[in-house]
Amino acid sequence: MLIDEIVAHSREEDPNECCGLVGGANGAATTVYRARNEFESPLRYNVHPEDLLRITTEIEDRGEELAAIYHSHTASEAYPSQTDINLARNWPDPVYLICSLAAPEPEVRGFAIRDGGVEEVELVVD
Ligand SMILES: [Zn+2]
Repeated sequence: MLIDEIVAHSREEDPNECCGLVGGANGAATTVYRARNEFESPLRYNVHPEDLLRITTEIEDRGEELAAIYHSHTASEAYPSQTDINLARNWPDPVYLICSLAAPEPEVRGFAIRDGGVEEVELVVD
C-alpha cells in the first residue's frame, strides 16, 4: 500500500524529514518515488533538484501524472507548517501528503495548499 511505503520512508529518515513524489493515473495514486531531502533537516525539506528532474521524467515516461508530494514531520502533527505553505506557492497543483511520527501511531493526511490557504483532502486508500 502506498501509505505504508511513505510511513516506511519516514521512519528510515527519522529524525530528519523525508520527502518524495507520488505518481498517479486516472485520478488514482499508483507509485511512490522516494527523493532525497536537499536540506537533510528535521525541520524542513526540499525535494533534491536532481531527484526532482529524474522522477518527473520517469513519471512522464510511464504515462503517469504527478499526483502528490509527500514529506514527513518527525516531531510535529500532520499539518502544513508556514514553511510548507510558502513552498507550495510555486507548485499549487499536487496534493501535499504529510506523514507525522509525533504520536506512537504514524498518521498520514493530505492537503490542497493554494494561495496560502490549506484545505484537507480525503485520502482514498486502496
Ligand atoms: Zn512540513
